[in-house]
Amino acid sequence: ELPSDCPPDVEQLGRSTWTLLHSMAATYPEKANAEHQDNMRGFLKFFSKLYPCWVCADDFQTWMAHPSGQNQPRLGSRKEFGWWMCEAHNEVNRKLGKKEFDCRLWEERWRTGWKDGRCD
Ligand code: FAD
Repeated sequence: ELPSDCPPDVEQLGRSTWTLLHSMAATYPEKANAEHQDNMRGFLKFFSKLYPCWVCADDFQTWMAHPSGQNQPRLGSRKEFGWWMCEAHNEVNRKLGKKEFDCRLWEERWRTGWKDGRCD
């Protein structure tokens, strides 16, 4: 029997959430004005406090707030934001011992679709 989908476990929640987050990046403006940037900054701030896996949320907040400032959301354009989201996801991949994703392929995976027509 297949495992139940209800309620979602950390893995199902994660897959669905990455779909939402990368899709938000994929539909982000090519050049974002101040209002868009503020809205997304606010979303990420609250998301990182409210994500319903508390360890995940804590680690994500800590990563974003790295004292060097290097992990702060980059919100100027879709390209920057998509790349940043890919890096954020790779940080979690590393932590979990998963393979890192090649961020140069981010747009094909999440926006345009693979050139060969598949979608995984
Ligand atoms: P997922 O990691 O869910 O990825 C889904 C798909 O995204 C992949 O099939 C691939 O096509 C694509 N992808 C993979 N990497 C990238 C990338 N870098 N950029 C773009 N696309 C990519 N789980 C825990 O157990 N502990 C945690 O602390 C934890 N923290 C999380 C924090 C956040 C903010 C989120 C959203 C999820 C977190 N998760 C955590 C869940 C975890 O990241 C995975 O979602 C879950 O383990 C299921 O993994 P998966 O192998 O099915 O693929």
